[in-house]
Formats: sequence, structure tokens, C-alpha cells
Amino acid sequence: MSFTMHGIAVSSGIAIGHAHLLSHTALEVAHYVLPKHMVQDEVKRFEAALESTRRELAALRDNRPQQAAAEFDAFLDLHLMILDDEHISQAPRHMIEREHCNAEWALKAQMDDLVTHFEAFEDAYLRERKTDVIQVVERVLKTLIGHPGQVPPAARHDVSMILVAHDVSPADLIQLKPHQFAAILTDLGGATSHTAIIARSLNTPCVVGLHRARQLMRENDMLIVDGTQGVIIVNPDKQILAEYKLRQSLLELERQKLKRLKSTRANTLDDAAIELHANIEMPHDLAEVQENGATGIGLFRSEFLFLNRDDLPDEDEQFEAYRAVAEGMGGLPVTIRTFDLGADKQLNGTKRVASNPALGLRAIRLCLAEPQLFRTQLRAVLRASHYGNVKILVPMLSSVSEINQTLQFIAAVKQGLDAEGIPYNRAVPIGGMVEIPAAALALNVFTRKLDFLSIGTNDLIQYTLAIDRTDEEVAHLYDPLHPAVLYLLAHVIGSANKAGIPISVCGEMAGELAYTRLLLGMGLRQFSMRPTQLLGIKQRVLTTSLPQIAPLMQKIMRADDPLKIQELLGRLNAA
Ligand code: PEP
Ligand code: MG
Repeated sequence: MSFTMHGIAVSSGIAIGHAHLLSHTALEVAHYVLPKHMVQDEVKRFEAALESTRRELAALRDNRPQQAAAEFDAFLDLHLMILDDEHISQAPRHMIEREHCNAEWALKAQMDDLVTHFEAFEDAYLRERKTDVIQVVERVLKTLIGHPGQVPPAARHDVSMILVAHDVSPADLIQLKPHQFAAILTDLGGATSHTAIIARSLNTPCVVGLHRARQLMRENDMLIVDGTQGVIIVNPDKQILAEYKLRQSLLELERQKLKRLKSTRANTLDDAAIELHANIEMPHDLAEVQENGATGIGLFRSEFLFLNRDDLPDEDEQFEAYRAVAEGMGGLPVTIRTFDLGADKQLNGTKRVASNPALGLRAIRLCLAEPQLFRTQLRAVLRASHYGNVKILVPMLSSVSEINQTLQFIAAVKQGLDAEGIPYNRAVPIGGMVEIPAAALALNVFTRKLDFLSIGTNDLIQYTLAIDRTDEEVAHLYDPLHPAVLYLLAHVIGSANKAGIPISVCGEMAGELAYTRLLLGMGLRQFSMRPTQLLGIKQRVLTTSLPQIAPLMQKIMRADDPLKIQELLGRLNAA
């Protein structure tokens, strides 16, 4: 049956492929087909993982601490029983033999089957036991993943798979990166959540806030995903399919044409020079940065080095990552943001869940509360500053005392390096993100004390309009064109320009074509965005005349009716 779903468009482009429903487990597993001669080895690998998990559970039971509750034994017995259930211990083996698939895939498929059975139970206690099934399977999967099998050279995830999940955390998405899904769909999420940002950085069409996609779609359903309109067509007819294939080819043609702009300088028609920088999450994003001709890194979200692991990256590991980027950019600016953990990016094993994490111990607040973590990172960044044009960017600053504490902290770390004779750039610029309305409104202290500023529109809008950027229920209220947001943006850009402090925008607005002229008209000359957006934005800059848009800009800044603002923006972009 064909039907259409609408969600929040997060990452543009058209994808056509088959639905792959993300399993209940947090672990996503690869799927590949093995040649016949490798099948028996795969069965043995599966059986070894079962045996190792059995031993692990038995050891846990035998070494139970004295004070542990008696339920502990019952729980382990239950897990051992589940492990020996034929769904878990036999069915995957038959599936490997029958379909020649890898062990992880077979196990996960059987688990999904079993979980569906449990979900159908009327008895709430039995229904809840699905969690135990998932936990047991995750244990076996971890063992399997720790002892990878031989992947045949041609095996890889089918590129025409479309991931359908209830929700994906930013950390999960980073792990999914190598799988190259043709599109990503989720039931939850808002357009500027970190999950959405990562999806965009994968250059993969993405629609979030679909509410019931995972429930309504079936594995292998044929899907068309229009990531620009936020529309999904499930099991389309032939005519629709042909139409979207054509649109897909036209978009690809457009993308190829843009590549010609890679080395062109981003000057407006009246010759104002605009800097177009890139946002990255990991050092390996550098290839894309260079492919798209960015003239610097405007935002390195360093916290992604801390995700998806049980330990913390030590000073040397961080140093190597920062140095690789600094050297890789060959003297162009590299703005490393000190880690913005907390809120929707939590360290593994974080126990305390704040009642309102976006307003809690996040970013610089967490850094100042955990000086050891902060010191380690600052030492690594400063050491890397010896190898390139490194700048330090501090997120979520809100007050003069936070700025002072941060600057003193950095000065103390520098002293430590001096004492050890470790080289670093003594004049490394220190900047602050303007992403809290208090910072935007009391900007003088920021321009006085810091070397540069960068506006994080994602958070600035979230906090100005009191809208959780991760909550799809209020996503329709997230409005970059709200007069209050426009006022703050124009105020910050204007004040920084007046004070002679470099200012950029590194939130999602910087990479959206609809806002390029608006920001240029406010006086912005430096943008930082995902690498794949860069050439499209450059094309818009090249076709903009600042004197020509000035009168319309004045009208926009005076308007307070959202419809009027929309209409004027339309005219600005058509000029
Ligand atoms: C922002 O808030 O706009 C920003 C760039 O930082 P992040 O999206 O990582 O919070
Ligand atoms: Mg932010």
C-alpha cells in the first residue's frame, strides 16, 4: 500500500531505497553476505561468542558480592536462560547457514523477532522482559564485535538502504557514519538538534519528527525521501518513482556544476570579501573541508572526540587530533571549540540526568566544574597551536565572571606549559560563542575581553524563544526570523563590527541559502557551516550586491509581522 508521511526537513536531497528499521538495540550492526566457504567459520564464531557470554554470566553469578541482593542471582539465571533459548542460541545459526549472512546480523534479526513476540504479551511483567532479551543480545553482540569475522572484500552496507529509527543520539549517528545509508528518518527530533546536524554533515537526506515512521513502515518497504520538503512516499507507484529519479539526477547535475566554484574567492558583486569556513566534528572530516574549498575551520566541535567510548581521550590523543587538523589546514585558521558536553551529548556512564539538561551543567559550565578535564583539553589545544593557526573558542559563556575564570584558567595552563618548556603559540586568539541571549544583550564585556566572537544561532534561538531544539513537538515554533532573533543577530554583528572584533556565525543559519543575504545585510563577513553547504552559499555570495540589498534590509529590520518578514525575505533572495 502506498502512503505519504510528513516530517521536519533536516537535510536536503532526494533518496530512493529500501527501509531498514533500526533494531531495538543501541548497537547497529553491519549486514554482509559471505561466500559459501566462509559460512562454517561464521557459525563457529557465533558459537564461540555464545560460549564466552555464557562464561561471563556464570562468572558474574559465581563472584556475586556478599552484599548483593538475592534478586541478582535470579536476574543472572534469567539471562542465562534467555541465552540458551532456541531463538538466541539456535535460530541465528540456522539463518547463517541458510542465508550466508554474518553472525551479528542473524542474531539481531532473531532478537527483533523475539522482541516483537514479547511486546504482544498482555501481561506487563512479561512484556517488560523484552529488555532482558535486548540486554543479553547486546552482550553477545559486543563479544562478536570485539572478535570481528573476515568481511569479504565486496561486502558493504547496501547504499540504497534508508535508516528508519525511533530516535538516534548524536553519538549513535557518528557510529553509523561508515554505513552510508541513503537517507535517515526518525520519529523524534527537531531541525537543529545535534542529531540533525550530524545527519546533515553526512550529506545524507534526513527527515525527523515523523512520529510513527518506525511503526508504520515495514522492513524493505520502498521509500522516496525528499529531504528538502520533509516528505516520505512509502511504496510509490511507477510514475512517481520515475519523476523522483529525474529530480534526483537534476540535483546531482547541479551539485557537479557547483564544484567549479571550489577555488573561486567568495566576493560579493561589489567586491566585499567574505570568508566561508567549515564546521567539523572529527579530524577525518578534513577531506570534505578541502574538497569544498573552505578557507578555514570556523567550528571544530571537539566534544565528539569524547563520545562513544568508556574512557576519556588523554592529552596526547587529543593533541594528535588537534595537531592533525591544524597541520592539515596548512596555516588556515582552525577554531577549536572547547568541549560542549552535557545537554544532548553525554559522556558514557554519566549517571545524573538533569531535569533540564539544556539549562544545566553544559559546555563551559561543565569545564569549570571539572577542571581536570578542562586542563587536559587546553594543554592539548595549546600544544597543537605550535603546528598551525589554532584559535580557541569557548561555548555557552554568559557572564563576565565566567569569562574571567576561563581566561585565568587558560593563563594558568600556559604557565604550566612554560614551566615544562613545551612550545605553543603565546598569542593564540581566545574567542567566545554568543549563544545565550544574556551574552548577546550584554555584549560589551565580550568585545572587551575576547579576541573574536562566533554566534551559535542554534542555541541562541533555542534560548531566546524558549524552545527545546531537540523536541519535535515544538519544532514548528523554532523561528530564525522571529523579530527578537533578528534584533539580537543584528545587534551582535553590528556591535562587534563597531568594536573591530571579528565575528562569525557558526550555527545552522550560516549554511542556509535563505539567510545568506540577510546575514550579509546585517554586516556579517564570516560564515561557518557544514562543508557540503559551502559551494551553494558561495554561489549566493557571488550573486549578491550589498548596496542593492541595503534598502530591503532596512525594511526587514523594521518589520514585526512574521508574514511581512517572510515576504520581504523572499524579495531579498530574488533580488
Ligand atoms: C550553535 O549553538 O549554534 C552552535 C554552533 O553550537 P552547537 O550546535 O554545537 O550547540
Ligand atoms: Mg551551541
